[in-house]
Amino acid sequence: MRIAVGGIHIECSTYNPVLNEEKDFRVVRGDALLAASYFEFLKDYPATFLPTVHARAIAGGPVSRATYEAFKAEMLAGLEAQKPYDGIYLAMHGAMYVEGMEDAEGDWIAAARAVAGADCPISVSYDLHGNVSQQIIDAIDMFSTYRTAPHIDVEETMRRSVTMLVKSLQTGVKPTLLWVPIPVVLPGERTSTEDEPAKSLYARLPEIDQLDGVWDSSLMVGYVWADEPRATAATIFTGTDRAVLEQQATTLAQAYWDAREDFVFGCQTDTPEACVREAIASQTRPVVLADSGDNPTGGGVGDRADVLAELITQGATETLVAGITDLPATDAAFEAGEGAKLNVTLGASLDPSSPQVSGEFTVLRLHHGANAADRQAVLRIDGINVVVSARRRPYHNIADFTQLGLSPQQAKIVVVKSGYLSPELAPIAQPNLMALSNGVVDQFVERLPRLRKTVPTFPFDRDFAFEPKVLLSARSSLSAYKG
Ligand SMILES: [Zn+2]
Repeated sequence: MRIAVGGIHIECSTYNPVLNEEKDFRVVRGDALLAASYFEFLKDYPATFLPTVHARAIAGGPVSRATYEAFKAEMLAGLEAQKPYDGIYLAMHGAMYVEGMEDAEGDWIAAARAVAGADCPISVSYDLHGNVSQQIIDAIDMFSTYRTAPHIDVEETMRRSVTMLVKSLQTGVKPTLLWVPIPVVLPGERTSTEDEPAKSLYARLPEIDQLDGVWDSSLMVGYVWADEPRATAATIFTGTDRAVLEQQATTLAQAYWDAREDFVFGCQTDTPEACVREAIASQTRPVVLADSGDNPTGGGVGDRADVLAELITQGATETLVAGITDLPATDAAFEAGEGAKLNVTLGASLDPSSPQVSGEFTVLRLHHGANAADRQAVLRIDGINVVVSARRRPYHNIADFTQLGLSPQQAKIVVVKSGYLSPELAPIAQPNLMALSNGVVDQFVERLPRLRKTVPTFPFDRDFAFEPKVLLSARSSLSAYKG
């Protein structure tokens, strides 16, 4: 059994002006793809895997057209060169936006289909914060998506997708694939599977999988910061019993719709000004304050200094801000050296519309890292330590702080650019506050410009009715492909 493997994995806010180029991706190709820890699980299957290319980047702005076309051409060449194979597995995120292309995964997957031909089964895995289109569903045979947010079932999901493909190839059974779009698209922070109602909705999936004729039940939240027509929640089902699949996909879609008003933030939220005031007054510590509108792991730019400005204005002390992406400020700190005083402006290093803060900072510490792109500096102003970094990156793990000699547990206030807190930061938060700050991943999505979400969609629209409608994959309609 021979299975070709590849994919591209990125989440792009269409509001983010900073283009992703090839250098922004971690790319594995050939034997290095199979050796990557991400794909290590493939060794457990009785198949020969044929690597093409897999490119992955943290969330951000659009992918440059040239970068996208180069990766796609490389995957297609790999698919062409390694023929024959029995199936294809594509590991995707699902919320890619390429310059001038609204359904980039649709383009990528359809291109793979064109090379593979009509008889080759294709199985795809996704992040639940991805978007799906009929073009995608029509080109594939099997689909599975994460069931946890924060994501702790990445490998499990990839395994479900590969297991279905291997099962189909071993048995010769060709499954049916269908989906039900749900005209609701909400931020991940309102749909965490650790909070209701998402928790209960997602808890249904393993039970549905047990039903005869169901191979996989997937529930997509969608990606709200993609201002494009395909951005919606959806149920996507793979299996052999079309009646059961239709019934289950419809019931789950209806349940998601019915719960739409119940999706709320899992922590206290307020304006940045009010969150900073509350953090300063807090009797417990550390308060972990999420600057949510600028979260780089959600597609934010990560270069905004507005929460820092608020902390300075209100006189916060014993405060740690991690971090602000600012290459010029990082370079200036390295130039000045540890202990030096530095007059510098922080903010807007990538997006000219981002707010800035100017002042005299002391360079507390320089961190060289593995290479120039990994350089970081800790700057101090009044009672506030601010991390600046050469590249866009999150500070969601304790080690991100300790490698800089910082202790988030000892601080009174820790500000991170984050939505819901990571599994490492959530336990130390006393309490967690989420600032509904401005930015290209504004959690208050209703105040974002909406030009391309062309169909009525909650919460942007509220006064419309919904009746679940099952849409079959064109592949499942082909008589040659009936199981
Ligand atoms: Zn996600």
